[in-house]
Amino acid sequence: MQRPSGSTITLRALRLQCPRCGGAPMFRGLFQMHERCAHCQLKFEREPGYFLGSIYINYGLAALIITVAWITLRFGYKVDAKLLLPAFMVFLVVFQTLFFRYARALWLAMDCRIDPSLYADVPEPQAEPTDVAP
Ligand SMILES: [Zn+2]
Repeated sequence: MQRPSGSTITLRALRLQCPRCGGAPMFRGLFQMHERCAHCQLKFEREPGYFLGSIYINYGLAALIITVAWITLRFGYKVDAKLLLPAFMVFLVVFQTLFFRYARALWLAMDCRIDPSLYADVPEPQAEPTDVAP
């Protein structure tokens, strides 16, 4: 299997599809993940604790949003900090829960972009066999 472009891999992840082939969904529910891709058989959790790294993506994006929002609202619009703090606490819980799947997909996509061995053992997709007349 030839490795697609980095943007293709990232777009597949943002659609929560397998970043390697784009042929099957990574999740079967809000939090439940398939063990393997139904299309290319990529094992999503490559080793125990593999998705710990996705926490960095989730945390980093949340911290960036909170920082920009804090500076904008607090210093630009003079919103009281006593109002902002509980609002941001609620935002953090909701955002990180909803972004959980995307962080995992993006983590795996980053791995697909970096590690060429992920494409080495995958056979080229075969065309559907056609019926041959006897
Ligand atoms: Zn796949």
